[in-house]
Amino acid sequence: MSPKAIIIGGGIGGLSAAICLRMIGWQVQVLEQAPEISEVGAGVQISPNGVKILEEMGVMPLLDASLFEPDAIEIRMGISGRKLLRLPMKDAAVHRWGARYIQIHRADLVAGLTARLEKLAPDTVQVGAQAASYTHQAHGVQVVLKDGTIEHANLAIGADGIHSTIRNQMLGPDAPHFTGNIAWRALVPVEQLGNFAPPATGCIWVGRGKHAVTTRVRAGALVNFIGVVEHSDWKKEGWKTEGRKQDALADFMGWDQRLLSVIQHAEVLHKWALFDRPPLPHWHDKHVVLLGDAAHPMLPSMAQGAVQSIEDAYMLAQCLKRTKNDRIPIAIASYFDERIKRVTKVQRVSAQNLRLFHKPSLPAQILSYAPVWLAGKLAPGLVQKQNDWLYGKVFEPLTTPKLNL
Ligand SMILES: Cc1cc2nc3c(=O)[nH]c(=O)nc-3n(C[C@H](O)[C@H](O)[C@H](O)COP(=O)(O)OP(=O)(O)OC[C@H]3O[C@@H](n4cnc5c(N)ncnc54)[C@H](O)[C@@H]3O)c2cc1C
Repeated sequence: MSPKAIIIGGGIGGLSAAICLRMIGWQVQVLEQAPEISEVGAGVQISPNGVKILEEMGVMPLLDASLFEPDAIEIRMGISGRKLLRLPMKDAAVHRWGARYIQIHRADLVAGLTARLEKLAPDTVQVGAQAASYTHQAHGVQVVLKDGTIEHANLAIGADGIHSTIRNQMLGPDAPHFTGNIAWRALVPVEQLGNFAPPATGCIWVGRGKHAVTTRVRAGALVNFIGVVEHSDWKKEGWKTEGRKQDALADFMGWDQRLLSVIQHAEVLHKWALFDRPPLPHWHDKHVVLLGDAAHPMLPSMAQGAVQSIEDAYMLAQCLKRTKNDRIPIAIASYFDERIKRVTKVQRVSAQNLRLFHKPSLPAQILSYAPVWLAGKLAPGLVQKQNDWLYGKVFEPLTTPKLNL
């Protein structure tokens, strides 16, 4: 009989893990505590390293109608709107890194992942199912749900996000670290913004103590706004917490009218405190393993949290491919070894980017942004090259392609 994995958490990481393990012949069961699989109203950028895996997983055709391909990634000054850097993306990403750079509504990505999983393994997602703990068994693991139900498997995967119950049991309780930043987010139809629509790029607007990111989702019909602001006094985390429009406007007072216009037109503005955690010593314990934000939460300033959870899922399946039950602990240890260096670097560069985007004084801005501007003008190829280690990663196929004779 094929081995079974219980995946705790039906977010982007958990659903990707279920698909990847099913692709290598495992039985999968996803436990999601929420009453339905859904995602918040916000966009997510998926860089070419993530898109390559979504292609391999057979998910990309399900996203084609709703995704948006930005012309470029830009950095602009938040107040003047002056362009510091423009890196062409459309076509250039496929040419340089082997896949597209896309922007998509989270709900559309999750719908695509769910549809793909349903095709590969119908009825494997259980909603309203909150995992409370796990217990090691002689040749596997048992997962205890909050309602007392017990489930057995060869492997339990904690894909249960930044406040992971599974992580807490594996490594002891602790709290993720509040970074002193909050994130505003909003979605606004492009047609409402007229001449004040932000450019159709992935645009990072930088300035003193804050930055904003504008992207497009729903095939370009909606502008997605994220505004990250240094605030030490507000630590509530939760995608569904609403904030006041006048507070968001006050945070971005004096900034480019295109950003203010998005805030003014937003029907709802959500507010979210940003947390991270230093790298963990391990993500595995016998027949239990972590992935995604449960293992390595990171700041959004590289747009990699979801992408890295997709990479985790794929590489975990690579390590488990053809593994016998008694070798699972070794296989998941090799998954950790394979992943830790790369995600630690992504965590580090994400934190560095935040500092770069929030330069506190004019001299610090000139010192940091002048070289960025110059490099973009004189050697754009060199700037693109800095992303090769991340976007250019090549992934071995998970399954042997069938010959169509
Ligand atoms: C403002 C902002 C912008 C971002 N933009 C990007 C971007 O552009 N690109 C990108 O790649 N990343 C981005 N990220 C990061 C990305 O959102 C996260 O890294 C990603 O969603 C993590 O996915 P996950 O599946 O690991 O965890 P989550 O999405 O947190 O999913 C965890 C799931 O587990 C469930 N769960 C929790 N506990 C239990 C339990 N005990 N039992 C059962 N179920 C449980 C939860 O209900 C949830 O559904 C951004 C983050 C922020 C804050």
